[in-house]
Amino acid sequence: MHLKCSELAEYGNEIESDSVVGKSQILARFLRNEFILDSKSTIGVEFQTRTLIIDHKSVKAQIWDTAGQERYRAITSAYYRGAVGAMLVYDITKRQTFDHIPRWLEELRINADKNIVIILIGNKCDLESQHDVPAEDAKEFAEKEGLFFLETSALVATNVETAFTTVLTEIYNIVN
Ligand code: GDP
Ligand code: MG
Repeated sequence: MHLKCSELAEYGNEIESDSVVGKSQILARFLRNEFILDSKSTIGVEFQTRTLIIDHKSVKAQIWDTAGQERYRAITSAYYRGAVGAMLVYDITKRQTFDHIPRWLEELRINADKNIVIILIGNKCDLESQHDVPAEDAKEFAEKEGLFFLETSALVATNVETAFTTVLTEIYNIVN
C-alpha cells in the first residue's frame, strides 16, 4: 500500500482514534471502582484479575487490556489465544470508532476461538448531549452479529459491572 504523507497522517489519526474509547478506564472501574483523571495511555500491563460471584460460585476473571497496540492494529495473537470473552468498545461520541467495529470483529473472529463470547460496548454514555451513534444502530448491529450490547460510562460507573457480569455469566454457562 502506497500512501502520500498527508494520507498517511490521516490514516494514522483514523486508527489512533480507536485507542481512546475508554477501555482502560472501564477496566479500572471494574477492578478497583476508580476512574483516573488525566490517565496516560495504557502501558505494559498484561492482565489483571478480579474474583466475583456468579451463580453462587466464585469465578476468577483474568482480564487483558490492549497496551496501546490497537493504535497500530498490531494486537498480537497472544491476546486472542485462549480468550473466552471479548469486549469491543467504541465511543458513543465518535461515530468513526463505531464504524471501525466491523474490522475489529472480523479480526477477533479470525484470531479467537469460535465460541468466544463478545459484547459490544458504547462507552461514554455520560456525554449524552454529544451522542454521535444512536443506540438503535448499535443494537441492530449487535443483534445481526450475535453480540451482547450495552452502553456504559466508566466515568459515572453506568453498566460497567453489568457488562462484565453479562459476559462472565454467559461464559460460565457455556463451560458448565
Ligand atoms: P483506551 O485508550 O481505550 O484505553 O482509553 P482510556 O481508558 O485511556 O480513556 C481515553 C479517554 O477517554 C481518557 O481521557 C478518559 O478519561 C476518557 N474516558 C474514558 N471513559 C470515559 C467515560 O465513560 N466518560 C467520559 N466522559 N470520558 C471517558
Ligand atoms: Mg488503554
